[in-house]
Amino acid sequence: MRIATFTSEGHRKVGLVSADGKTVTPLQFTQAQADFGVLTLIETLAEGGPLPEAAGPAVNLGDVVLDAPLPKPRRNLWCVGRNYHAHAKELSASVFKDNAAKTDEWPIVFTKVPECVVGPHDDVLVPSEVSTQIDYEAELAVVIGKGGKNITRAAAMSHVFGYTVVNDVTARDVQMRHGQWDMGKSFDTFCPMGPWIVTGDEFDGTKTRVRCWVNGELRQDGPTENMIFDIPMLIETISRGITLYPGDVIATGTPAGVGMGMSPPRYLRAGDVVRVEIDRLGAIENKFV
Ligand code: MG
Repeated sequence: MRIATFTSEGHRKVGLVSADGKTVTPLQFTQAQADFGVLTLIETLAEGGPLPEAAGPAVNLGDVVLDAPLPKPRRNLWCVGRNYHAHAKELSASVFKDNAAKTDEWPIVFTKVPECVVGPHDDVLVPSEVSTQIDYEAELAVVIGKGGKNITRAAAMSHVFGYTVVNDVTARDVQMRHGQWDMGKSFDTFCPMGPWIVTGDEFDGTKTRVRCWVNGELRQDGPTENMIFDIPMLIETISRGITLYPGDVIATGTPAGVGMGMSPPRYLRAGDVVRVEIDRLGAIENKFV
C-alpha cells in the first residue's frame, strides 16, 4: 500500500494511492484522527485491527494537496548521523571531527522536534537571522509499525510499517556550535516529508537509491546498500532500553554530496529548490524561502 495524507475540500484526509499513482481513495477516519495523518492507521494495524473502509470515491491526486504522511509525529524523529562511508569522509574534518573514531561500532543518533515536519511540496523557511549555512540531507526514513523495546536484529524488520522520504535540513553553523545537533536540525519547516508511506511488504528499504538535486543539479546519489549501520541494526540500537511506538520515524542518514562537504561549501539560499527522490518510493520537492 501507498498511504497518503492530503488536504481536499478544506479537510485533512488519509487515503490509499492507486497503483498508477493517479488517484487517492480516502479512508474512514474521524477528523481528529485524520489530522494526525497515517498515525491512526499505523496504530490500528499494529494492534491487529482492520483496514478502514473507503470514505468515498477516488479523487485525482492532482486535485488535492499532499501533506506529510505524519504531519504531527507523536514525538521527536530519530535520526542517524554518519551512516554512509563517503559522507563520513566528506565531513570528517568538520561535523564528525570529534567522534569519527568511536562511531565505527555505534551509530550517532540525534533527534529533530516533531513540529519541524512539513509537507512534500511545502516551502522551507531559511532562518537567515540565525544561520548562514543551511544544508540538505536526502534520507530514507523508516516508519515503525508494531512497537517494542529491546528489539533484536532478527526481529527488527517485523517492526517496520513502511518507508517515506525526508530531507533532514540542517543549519551547519548551529549544528557545530552547541555540542549536540538537535537545535541545528530542528528549525521550523526543517523536515520536509512525503510524498506518502510505502508499506514494507511492497518496498525493500535495504536495496534502493537515495538522490538529491539542488536547482536541477544532482548532488547526492547513494544506494542504501552502502549504509554503515543497516536498518535492523538501527532498530536494535535505538530500541535498547527505549520503547519504540507505532509511527516512530527513524531517518537513516544521508549519502555523500551535502553542501558542507564541497570545496568551497555550497549552502542553500532563498529561492533554491531541493528535490529528494528514492527509487520506487517517490519524491519530495521544496523551495527554500
Ligand atoms: Mg541526517
